Order: sequence, then structure tokens, then C-alpha cells
Amino acid sequence: MRIREIVKAFESYKVVEGSYRIWLDKNESPFDLPEEIKNEIFEEVKRIPLNRYPHITADPLREKIAEFLGFEKGNIIIGNGSDEIISHLLKLFEGGYIVISSPTFGMYDFFAKLEGIDLVDVPLDERFKLQNVENYAENAKTIFICSPNNPTGNTQEREKIINVLETGAPVVLDEAYIEFAESSNVDLVNEYDNLIVLRTFSKAFGLAGIRVGYAVASEEIINYLLRIKPPFSLNALSMKIAELMLDHYDVIKQNINYIIKERNRIYKEFKDYAYPSEANFLLMQLNAYEFLLEKGIVVRNLSGRLSNHIRVTIGKKDENDELIKVLKEFIERF
Ligand SMILES: *Cc1c(COP(=O)(O)O)cnc(C)c1O
Repeated sequence: MRIREIVKAFESYKVVEGSYRIWLDKNESPFDLPEEIKNEIFEEVKRIPLNRYPHITADPLREKIAEFLGFEKGNIIIGNGSDEIISHLLKLFEGGYIVISSPTFGMYDFFAKLEGIDLVDVPLDERFKLQNVENYAENAKTIFICSPNNPTGNTQEREKIINVLETGAPVVLDEAYIEFAESSNVDLVNEYDNLIVLRTFSKAFGLAGIRVGYAVASEEIINYLLRIKPPFSLNALSMKIAELMLDHYDVIKQNINYIIKERNRIYKEFKDYAYPSEANFLLMQLNAYEFLLEKGIVVRNLSGRLSNHIRVTIGKKDENDELIKVLKEFIERF
């Protein structure tokens, strides 16, 4: 047996497990669904014939999302998390390399390595704004723009995104955290057929456990994506749950408002250390990972240019109170 060399290219994934009290490390929603909605979901799920394959392209959910966003079903593709869609997007376009702007979401690099695709990194500037990625557009398979960006939390200006789109290169705009931001750029799909916008149910919708993400793009791109996507990668239960949650957006909206309020509260407490954020987390220049862990609080430890920083997911009020208390203790001591 010979294992592909590529497997060694990934650093071993460090799983933090154990009886910590507070989990603020994965940008999940702190809110599970209310009991009534869970019951409603289970009633619906009972009716799903489990002996049958799910809808091959998840059309009922595509229709629901299209209606929710004001697009057509033909503009939407569903994936087993938006991660799955990223993996297919990397196979779709010609070109010599993908372009990313670090520090950013690790999955672009992950799938590029897996596929043996070259990667050009045009790092974000010192304020985490996009630099001149346009200069690399000509031979790019795809240019990835993450806005709000994970792990920095800031958004990129619309004008800048349009400049990149004007090159004609395929642009993937990752809007995983858009529900926590001031405004979206998804409407640009109507003007630019080289734009693919990624969204997910994992963050604001509080459904990380069911693995549903989607992309919004021109019908042409969606049709090509549907040709290369494994037909039944999304299961019938997850599809149904995502559909039902769109009917309860009022609950989600309340949770979003709560998180934004809490985010602003924590930011104010740590103005000297935290970066402005339009997501459900804050990047902080505090080397407090181990200290927090010892006190039972798990956050995200960062490396490279952001070593000495932590990324803290916004939790429930009492969790945030505890975080604030312990971080203040850290600052006093060190
Ligand atoms: C969490 C996240 C995703 C979503 O991943 P899913 O596979 O849909 O859970 C996508 N992009 C970014 C930047 C993220 O942080």
C-alpha cells in the first residue's frame, strides 16, 4: 500500500476535546433551535421515506432559498456544507492557480493542496484589506474573497470586489458570516456571471450539525457545478431541516441581533486589543489561548502572522461575561 504524498502536506488537525465549560472556538451559534421548532422538524422528518434517495439536486430547498434571496432556482446549488461546494469550484475553471488573501479561511488552501493546484497568496494589508489581486487575474482559476473574512472579521469594500470582478476571472465571494454584516454583495450575481457567492446554514442559522451550504451564481455556472457534484451528497433529513428553518427566519433574526449586540459589547471592553468585526467572532491581539483553556474556555488559537492572537466566537451573555472576566484577569497579569 502506498499513500499519496499529499496526505503529509496537511498539518495534523488538532481536536480539542474534554470537559471545558465554554466553547467559543468554531464560530457556531450558541443557540440550538427552540423546542417547538425542533418538534415541528421531527414531525416533518417522520414523514420522509428513508428508503428513497433524496431529491437529486435538492430542488425543494433550492426553490426555498431562491425565494428567500430573490433569485431563481437555477441560480442556486446546495452542498454538504459550503465546504463541499468549494471543493467542486476548484475543479471547474481553467487556469494556472487559485488566488487567496491570507490570513483567511483554511479550506481554500486545503482543497487546493488536495487537488494539487498551485496557490498564489496576495496577503491582506495591515488593516486586513484586499490588495491588488487583480494583477493575478489573467491566469487564475478562481480568486477567493472572504467577506466578512475569517479569522479577521472585517468586510471588503464593494468597489474593490467590483474591480476584481471586472477582470472577468471567476471570483468566489465567501459570505459565510454575511448575516452579521451591514450589507451583502449577492446582488452582483445579476450583473457578473463570473461571480459565485457562498453561503451556509452553519453560522447564523445555527445548523452546523446538519451540514448544508449553498452557492448563488449564474445559471451557466450552477449547471456546470451540478454536472460534477456527486448527486446524493446531501441527505434528505438535512434538506428538510434547512427548508423548515427558512420558514422561521424571525427566530434566526432575533439570534443575529443578540449576537451583534453582544459582539459590540465585548468589542467595547477590549477596544485596545480587538479588531472591528462584522461577523459572529472577534479577533484579538492577546496571547491568551492557554490561559483561557486553563479556565475552561476554548477559543481559536491562531498561527503565522496572527500568532499571539485569538479568535473568539460570540456566545451567550453569561458565557461572554465569563470570557470578559477571565480576559481582564489575563491583561492585568501579563
Ligand atoms: C464556517 C465557514 C464556512 C462554512 O462551512 P460549512 O461547510 O458550510 O459549514 C465557509 N466559509 C467560511 C469562511 C467559514 O468560516
